[in-house]
Amino acid sequence: MLDTLEFDNRFTRELPADPESENFRRQVMGACYSRVLPTPVARPELVVHSREMAEELGIPESDVSSQAFAEVFGGNRIADGMDPFAMCYGGHQFGNWAAQLGDGRAINLGEIVNAEGHRLVLQLKGAGPTPYSRTADGLAVLRSSVREFLCSEAMHHLGVPTTRALSLVLTGEQVVRDMFYDGNPKEEPGSVVCRVSPSFIRFGNFQIFTSREDFDVLRQLVDYTIETDFPHLGAPSKDTYLAWYDEICRRTADMIAHWMRVGFVHGVMNTDNMSILGLTIDYGPYGWLENFDPDWTPNTTDAGGKRYRFGHQSQIAHWNLVQLGQAIYPLIEEVEPLQEVVNAYPRHFEAAWQTMMAGKLGLGSYVRKTDDELVSDLHTILQSAETDMTIFYRNLARVELSEITCDGPIPELLREAYYVEDQITPDLASRVNLWLRRYADRVSSEGNEARVELMHRTNPKYVLRNYLAQLAIDKAEEGDHTMISELLEVLRRPYDDQAAMESYAERRPDWARHRPGCSMLSCSS
Ligand code: AMP
Ligand code: MG
Repeated sequence: MLDTLEFDNRFTRELPADPESENFRRQVMGACYSRVLPTPVARPELVVHSREMAEELGIPESDVSSQAFAEVFGGNRIADGMDPFAMCYGGHQFGNWAAQLGDGRAINLGEIVNAEGHRLVLQLKGAGPTPYSRTADGLAVLRSSVREFLCSEAMHHLGVPTTRALSLVLTGEQVVRDMFYDGNPKEEPGSVVCRVSPSFIRFGNFQIFTSREDFDVLRQLVDYTIETDFPHLGAPSKDTYLAWYDEICRRTADMIAHWMRVGFVHGVMNTDNMSILGLTIDYGPYGWLENFDPDWTPNTTDAGGKRYRFGHQSQIAHWNLVQLGQAIYPLIEEVEPLQEVVNAYPRHFEAAWQTMMAGKLGLGSYVRKTDDELVSDLHTILQSAETDMTIFYRNLARVELSEITCDGPIPELLREAYYVEDQITPDLASRVNLWLRRYADRVSSEGNEARVELMHRTNPKYVLRNYLAQLAIDKAEEGDHTMISELLEVLRRPYDDQAAMESYAERRPDWARHRPGCSMLSCSS
């Protein structure tokens, strides 16, 4: 069982370990990780798995369906070659330095080098307490595991850089959670997701050592990361560190542009939730834009300041990158070159954003002189009535542009995007149509087929709508897992029109407008 897997545990082999082997909450000094075993659970049962991920890892489907698989990925059994550990990291939470955080509910099992030679770390989320669990229990509940599993796979298929998920296992145990921290705790089914990524290192992994002035371990971790995950940058040196920082800035800019493209709001962009590889990581109180609203945040914990709102994600990424720059400063000891690198971030983002917007509108390239205004006017129109972003862009490709008249109604295809009938006024119609005329002009020189094709591979038809995830969770909590698999299936091909699956592309129904889980999430998991 799982004997096809070859482990090569470089992180634990090369980096300093916590000498303490007992599992109790503590401050861990001078070490990148602590060895810790998952806590055994009562009755592990596989709910769903990603067949692409299993294949990439070289796990045959016959192994996936065995009880041994559920035992290993529920935390009951350690396969040969695994060397489980939790990482030490810190972070800024909501803009404030929070000191040591660490893998409080994540346990890395080991690193696989697959048939293609790619390094992939397997990590259980929700497999019990670690030295970094602080006051919490190290567990996860079905609701959050379903959200993480489905969303990370959906993001992958959307072409957004992300960590992946292999499996979701029910533990057969109940976990108490106060979902909105309002004094209403209840029991929920416990579960464990196995996440997969080339690396789970975060900005906070570096910050913690700098904050403790432990520059020796800082350098070891930076060198390790460059050698392992950025080998093309060459041997570690000051120049390499700067090139590395620059690459992280570029990758992060690229990731955020993808989020803006698909309407993803992370919800907790703390520096401990920023991957050093520029991958989307830690799916918690994230949400998907329904009506286009740059001020929207799904996270109730963030409702006051809306720090992590949709339209602010790039600025927050920049702020987080500045924190990373400060963390690696001791290795460079010169402010200017670091500043120069991070000051270029807005330019990287803008370039990525322009390419992304050009794709959304089906333009061969983005021309500032005409397109800045075209786009900003569109954004104003999209906000002047509740307009589903996904449906609007998807359907825009097929609007018959030659038939637009300024005094006509909004084209039927676009009407599907509007949430509130009363907001579809003659004034709105004329503004939309006026814009469509300008758009028609702008694209008149582009080949129509190429335009539609580009738009269809940029604007997904299917995203993990908040209410769909919640419906799948509601059913799963009653023991019916079918909708999870169905959603996973639809979301494997988000850019394809899937005739039988039209209902998954529809606007959020009205009952979900204010339902917890659909429009409001919290960090509780
Ligand atoms: P997050 O906001 O989910 O990224 O978590 C912030 C920190 O809290 C990380 O160090 C997590 O490991 C830790 N944490 C969150 N939930 C739990 C939990 N249920 N048990 C232990 N630690 C947790
Ligand atoms: Mg986190």
